[in-house]
Amino acid sequence: MKLELLPLKYAKEALEPEISRKTMEFHHDKHLQAYINNFNQLIEGTKLEDCSLEDVIKKASGPLFNNAAQAWNHQFFFDSLSEKKGQKPLNKTEEMIINKWKSFDRFKEEFNKSANFHFGSGWTWLYLDKNKEMSIRSEFNASNPMSYGLTPILTFDLWEHAYYMDYQNRRAEYINALWNIINWEIVEKRIETFFEEQKNTKRYF
Ligand code: MN
Repeated sequence: MKLELLPLKYAKEALEPEISRKTMEFHHDKHLQAYINNFNQLIEGTKLEDCSLEDVIKKASGPLFNNAAQAWNHQFFFDSLSEKKGQKPLNKTEEMIINKWKSFDRFKEEFNKSANFHFGSGWTWLYLDKNKEMSIRSEFNASNPMSYGLTPILTFDLWEHAYYMDYQNRRAEYINALWNIINWEIVEKRIETFFEEQKNTKRYF
């Protein structure tokens, strides 16, 4: 399977001032394109060639894993952002956040802490586990919770290329700004899909 660079669902300047057009041009058109090009080269002739991208992430290691996961992570990250600013978590999302962290502010605080104290490159994930519990964890480099059988529902890119042009070393400022451009509609859809899939999973016991 070959990957193609999908266009963004919003204009490159639509996320300003939180993320500049220039950052989006480099991040989407250069960085993501490079991961896709590398993936397409590395997958050729391997026994994973006919697998879905998700299966490649679950089965591959080394450079193939890194580029497959970075391709997936970036598409997921860009889809998690919206030009419709100042959105708030919707029904199920809000309910699950309140159940776990008592308030949205407390959740945000925990997420920011995880992102701010993560050392080096990586991603902070909000994910669901098999017990239908919501949790936060930060992962190094390209790592994705799917590798551990978890279901990602939101991610923040912590790589310097995601914010250096706009915020230089001020990662906390970048992380704080991201909250204003989250696409909570897609987060809600991801949660709905997770519960649909749980319902459809056949039980043999
Ligand atoms: Mn990135």
